[in-house]
Amino acid sequence: MNKAVFLDRDGTINVDHGYVYKPEDLQFIEKVPESLLRLIKADFLLIIITNQSGVGRGFFTEEAVNSFNENLISQLLEKNIKITDVFVCFHNPDQNCDCRKPSPKLIFEAMKKYDIDPTRSFMIGDKESDVLSGNKAGVTSFLLDKDQDFSIITDQILQLNDE
Ligand SMILES: [Zn+2]
Repeated sequence: MNKAVFLDRDGTINVDHGYVYKPEDLQFIEKVPESLLRLIKADFLLIIITNQSGVGRGFFTEEAVNSFNENLISQLLEKNIKITDVFVCFHNPDQNCDCRKPSPKLIFEAMKKYDIDPTRSFMIGDKESDVLSGNKAGVTSFLLDKDQDFSIITDQILQLNDE
């Protein structure tokens, strides 16, 4: 089985400008690309799990989200960082879908699709809903807060991975 690090997108990998969707909004957070590369070298699959309620709210289209994601993926690939897949909830909260985080549904879908062992996998996000979704999926989950940068969480994951 594979192991993975599930990643929130806005506010975790790239700067959250609030409903990020324009190509020029893509700005990686400091230390994130080099940290992702360390995870790749430790044989983790990297999978993005993102709520994009701006689609459900009518602010932008699914196509805009998909092309933003493709651009993000290709920019990371240039740094030898492969994002295996991106799973998106396009709904707004009023639609009461079953895929929006804190639901673990998209993580479960990813685990099934890529044969991922939750006990060797992790979730990183900047919101409580990310941690809740990861915990419900049975993966060790980390909340990024203002004092904790991505590289420190990466250190912790790599340490746990070695145990
Ligand atoms: Zn949804």
